[in-house]
Amino acid sequence: MKLICIGRNYAAHIEELENERPDEPVVFIKPDSAILPKEQDFYIPEFSNDIHYEVEVLVKIKKVGKHIAKQFAHTYYDEIGLGIDFTARDVQAQLKAKGLPWEKAKGFDGSAVVGRWLQKNKYENIDKLGFSLLKNGENVQNGNTSLMLWKIDELIAYVSTYFMLKKGDILFTGTPAGVGKVRPNDYLSGTLEGENMFEITVR
Ligand code: ZN
Repeated sequence: MKLICIGRNYAAHIEELENERPDEPVVFIKPDSAILPKEQDFYIPEFSNDIHYEVEVLVKIKKVGKHIAKQFAHTYYDEIGLGIDFTARDVQAQLKAKGLPWEKAKGFDGSAVVGRWLQKNKYENIDKLGFSLLKNGENVQNGNTSLMLWKIDELIAYVSTYFMLKKGDILFTGTPAGVGKVRPNDYLSGTLEGENMFEITVR
């Protein structure tokens, strides 16, 4: 399986990193080895001094598909989740400056936190889900899927024109503003519509 990730999908986050607003979604892939095993702590890798948390809404793909039309995209998933796209911001900045791929900054071991899954039919409108990240009990990121530049079904249609989606693939839909650095012993927890989705200790 693969993790398909979207960058720059919230206007306020684009501004905080002083990025350009893209004309199309920014897409990158994390390998399945990036998934942090359940109940395991996150270890800051030795090659970075600036690991950032990015809380993101996740979508689990339930069947194979390619060139999926937007109006059928909703039939490709039943489960919504929340996770973290850990990013080595210092490594990413160097790669970006050279126009090189981001994988070393984004796809390293443990860089993908995948929380628990909830049935999407619990919610009236998945384009109106509030979520947040707490660091040591303090609210550091607040988002709402209504603020996405490209909504979930649009993202599925877009990415499936490039990558065949397979059962079990996970879409990371981008992070809202408020990203920041983690330090050893930080405790991160995420909520989606008020429900606890994951808890992570940084080492
Ligand atoms: Zn991200």
